Amino acid sequence: MKKMKKISKSKLNLQKMMERESEKCSYQFVWKHRISGIDTHIFFLCSHGIKREMDRIAKLMRVPGGKFPKKLYESFGGLYGESLTHYLDETRILFVGYGKEGECDMERLYDLCRQVGKESECSGKSSYMIHLVGGDKKGIQEKIHHQVSGFILGHYRFDLLKSEGLKESGRKGRKGEKSDQIYFYYPKASLKGVVEKFITMSRVQNEVRALGNLPQNILNADSYINYIKKACPKGVKVRVMRNAELKKNGMNLILAVNQGSEVEAGLVILEYSGKDKGSRKEKPTVLVGKGVIYDTGGYDLKTRGMADMKYDMLGSAVMYGVIKSHALLKSPGRYVALLPIVENLVSSRAYLSGDVIESRCGLRVEVTDTDAEGRLILADAICYACDHFTPKLMIDIGTLSGDAGYMFANKSALIMGNHHPSVQRIMDTGMSLHEKVWELPMWAEYQDDLRSDVADIRSTGISGKAGAIIVGTFLSNFVKKGINWVHLDIAGVDYARGSPYLHNGAKGEILQTLVLATS
Ligand SMILES: [Zn+2]
Repeated sequence: MKKMKKISKSKLNLQKMMERESEKCSYQFVWKHRISGIDTHIFFLCSHGIKREMDRIAKLMRVPGGKFPKKLYESFGGLYGESLTHYLDETRILFVGYGKEGECDMERLYDLCRQVGKESECSGKSSYMIHLVGGDKKGIQEKIHHQVSGFILGHYRFDLLKSEGLKESGRKGRKGEKSDQIYFYYPKASLKGVVEKFITMSRVQNEVRALGNLPQNILNADSYINYIKKACPKGVKVRVMRNAELKKNGMNLILAVNQGSEVEAGLVILEYSGKDKGSRKEKPTVLVGKGVIYDTGGYDLKTRGMADMKYDMLGSAVMYGVIKSHALLKSPGRYVALLPIVENLVSSRAYLSGDVIESRCGLRVEVTDTDAEGRLILADAICYACDHFTPKLMIDIGTLSGDAGYMFANKSALIMGNHHPSVQRIMDTGMSLHEKVWELPMWAEYQDDLRSDVADIRSTGISGKAGAIIVGTFLSNFVKKGINWVHLDIAGVDYARGSPYLHNGAKGEILQTLVLATS
């Protein structure tokens, strides 16, 4: 028997590493301006009325004479992406242009803030004050999201596995480590709530990204489940089923996919409800997330891109993040997350193409491609959720089909489902946050593609076409009649590589969309 890979625990303790990682930066909303103790002040300016605006900043920053040098006015016009640095003794002022007011669409503001965040050095001893662009009430939530989440997500760099001293961020990382201090400033305290909401969600999202970036030899089903148990905030109930209980509950699809692994499969169930009586009694919103720790493809072995298969658990991490965010934000309502956690490996015990497996709901599935494993584990979890929680809405998410990535060139997640108002709500929320989500059809005729010669249903389509739609179509067979259900595929937007806006690695996208859309 193959021995489990082990890395010295004292060096790579997951819990401790993740704690250190989350302490890298501290984020805070302030409504009282100060100059001392801040290395860099960042101002976003539009080209309209720029001189007046710069005079205002000169006064705010107590520039001698109340004005910046003439040259500075001449060399900065506030055009989109334009930037200028000016020093006042030790204090750095960074001006960033976002174009003409009204002309700069909000998506560009989000991109710009992510880019500024990414380019802001993460030294462990830097401090930044970001002067938020406000405006009228309409659209303020989006505007704050773009700036606050934009900066925090852009600034985040995963370097938890690098040896100290080789970290590009240059921080020391040991005891007594200082963190970067980041202040979001707006002169009115009224924005405190909304700024803090996005700080909370972005921090959780960065935690989800770190989990996604961890390789299988550090994050396996055991360590992942242990981590979730400890990292869930107060008020979240955690229950875990492993092999024996999964078997008792008929979740043979989850077990089959994990058959090739020496680590037991898991189904993590997280429950949170708001403190009020109504919340505890209502039907829950159920969130199901695909947690394939590692996907080799099984015997239908992947021939490329295998190193990126550690990201295949991001669906489960995102749903963990949604529940965690609701708990930290003390949202009213009731939420349940189901996270099936497996590894899809090759071994003499692994499941095979052609196997017929009886699912929890009784439907017998002919496995027609061992690399189409995500839909199998989701199917059993969906079925369990229908039986045990009678959801008012069920949402599933995962990195499911390569097709989803090709279709939108990695620019958008895709959505489909049987409840149009919920699909529309998630899509609208996603578009407003620039976590793009776009709908695909789920016409009944796609079911024909799943007809099996030997069992009740095939796991992949006969035609080999419309792969992304077929996943949703397959899953629809496991949703109990009358239950509102939405399916999301994030295979195209799960990680970034070579992006001007984010450091390389997992993105955790759609998390904030789902928190807002299910609030
Ligand atoms: Zn796969």
